[in-house]
Amino acid sequence: MKVFGRTAVSEFLGDMVVYRNLVPCDPRLPPLAAMRAEVSLPEGVIPRKSEPAYGRVIAHLLREARALDHPSAEIERLIYVGDTQLNDGTAFANVCQAGRFRGLAFIGADRPDPPKTTIVEKGDGRLYVANRWSAVSQFDSLLGAQGFPVDERTAIIIDLDKTAIGARGRNDHVIDRARVAAVRQTVEKLLGSDFDAVRFQAAYDELNQPEFHAFTADNQDYLAYICLILGSGLYDLDPVVDDVRGGRLSSFQQFLGEVDERAGELGDGLRPIHDQIVGLVRQGDPTPFKAFRYNEYTATVERMGQLDDDAPLEDLLEGEIVITQEVREVALKWRERGALLFGLSDKPDEASVPSDALAARGFRAIHQAETHAVGG
Ligand SMILES: [Mg+2]
Repeated sequence: MKVFGRTAVSEFLGDMVVYRNLVPCDPRLPPLAAMRAEVSLPEGVIPRKSEPAYGRVIAHLLREARALDHPSAEIERLIYVGDTQLNDGTAFANVCQAGRFRGLAFIGADRPDPPKTTIVEKGDGRLYVANRWSAVSQFDSLLGAQGFPVDERTAIIIDLDKTAIGARGRNDHVIDRARVAAVRQTVEKLLGSDFDAVRFQAAYDELNQPEFHAFTADNQDYLAYICLILGSGLYDLDPVVDDVRGGRLSSFQQFLGEVDERAGELGDGLRPIHDQIVGLVRQGDPTPFKAFRYNEYTATVERMGQLDDDAPLEDLLEGEIVITQEVREVALKWRERGALLFGLSDKPDEASVPSDALAARGFRAIHQAETHAVGG
């Protein structure tokens, strides 16, 4: 592996990117609100990556995006590059089905075992699941032989998190570390002198485990809120763990309701944030802890491009969120051949795009933030 200088994901994707709210960063494309009727999506619903409606939205956006630069080219084929077989594989199959595209997907990771690529049939498409990111160039060289040309009638979807940046198995822990740092900063700021770093870390590590996903809905906003309430001393970790294991506490909503009944005990420092979260959860907002997500944005961008250009490779992979050179290279090649490139991210918009105040100070969206490209 080598360092390939500084760049940004926008080098190959431009602003053809959507974050979790499905509002394209390129203002020429319609926001979700403007296409609900066309994709049969009820008011107020933002589909998640694994839902069929997500596939309809993305297929629609791909056609709209293609019409901007090649109005005569109809998209017929889809290539999807991601890092998780289940989530990305399902999104891929749904986009193929919604758009009636022929599809091939590359699911990458770096793993310690000997190089291997497994083929998995998924819906009408096919996944190439590889344990080396470098295998994406072999995937590319197979396309021609499979009657799968990459041209103006081909759309390329590139997953952002742990694919285009923070490659899974290579650099993804830096993305996770930024998120945990943001939870910690948020809780610490709200608790002030009551904050106990050791107790916080113990609570976060315990409740972040799969065993508690049913309780936390595997939702980092919920988890951050629970850690905040535990840190306040209103509840202790052990009884909460026992209640979840014993089935007495089965959902985050139940926990939130119980805290709400004792909200008077929270004190002036935590009451406003508690009330805000209760309100947003009732409205169905899946990312109700806004302060945490704003901190996640800064914790993420401050880990992009912050190291010197002559920093050793190991330091970059350990401390910086870097661009996956293999993905960048193949993306640039495909764009050269005329394909439409489009980026997807599951990260909430608040954690991905700067506030107006930060934008005025020069902060950029995650896909526009410069960092080093690293790969083989
Ligand atoms: Mg991903």
